[in-house]
Amino acid sequence: MYGVIGKCRTHNLTIDCKVDMFDKIIKPILLYGCEVWGFHNTNLLEKLHLKFCKHILNLRTSTPNFMVYGELGRYPLTINVKVRMISFWGKLVNFQNSKLSAKLFNVLKNFNNPWCAAIKKTLNQCGLTYIWYQNTINIPWLKSKVYIILLDQFKQSWYSEVHYSPKGLNYRIFKKSLDFEKYLLTLPTQLCKKCCNFRTGNAKLPIEIGRWFNIHRENRICKLCTCNEIGDEFLYLFKCTDVYISNSRVRCLPKYFITNPNVVKFEKLFNVTNINQLTNICKLLDTIFERVSSLG
Ligand SMILES: [Zn+2]
Repeated sequence: MYGVIGKCRTHNLTIDCKVDMFDKIIKPILLYGCEVWGFHNTNLLEKLHLKFCKHILNLRTSTPNFMVYGELGRYPLTINVKVRMISFWGKLVNFQNSKLSAKLFNVLKNFNNPWCAAIKKTLNQCGLTYIWYQNTINIPWLKSKVYIILLDQFKQSWYSEVHYSPKGLNYRIFKKSLDFEKYLLTLPTQLCKKCCNFRTGNAKLPIEIGRWFNIHRENRICKLCTCNEIGDEFLYLFKCTDVYISNSRVRCLPKYFITNPNVVKFEKLFNVTNINQLTNICKLLDTIFERVSSLG
């Protein structure tokens, strides 16, 4: 994995290329033979996947996983593992005792075999229990069906995590779907990192630092001004009266965002696609980062 990361850095590849490198080089190695061993605990695979994603986005390891999946529009590798296992099982059923592996499966399925139990569990999870009892399997249909269902289930759990996680209070306002964020390709690397850090709670804002020290949410106040409000993303983008930040805000944001800021404008600001506007927002973020870190 680190070889790939090194190559990405040497050639200064874009984020989508890095993700593609993972899918084409690392993923096939990680999932090699998973049709057979995939019923074991695959948490380690996912940890590695997330570690890579956090590394290329330059995020802290403590960044919530739902934000990493969200920014890159990625899905867990376990979905691929389950689909490949189901496909392999379909082949064994279709062989109908003509191969040694199929004969072995026919014997094992009558015992309490963990591999067979995992297949059954996946089928149950997808509401396709009846397929287990069929003698021939339409493999392409089953593969795509299981993939779509597992993907939908993951999306549902992702939405609920975004919605209920206390860390996602601001994130849920501007992140509405599990899709790759376009700003990751539009902005130059340095600005891209800043923007991503700010969106995912990796900036050293009082709201985040207070979390590290177990300070109650109401007491994570901005110390740069006298507003006596919680120092979160919304405050620094729109309300903080610190001279440097206010000046930068006037310079960088269109008037529309400065006058009467609200949640709708907050969402719009994070979903800006125009490169010039995005660059200006990053300049404001730069000032915020600088001022916030000046507090130590
Ligand atoms: Zn302030």
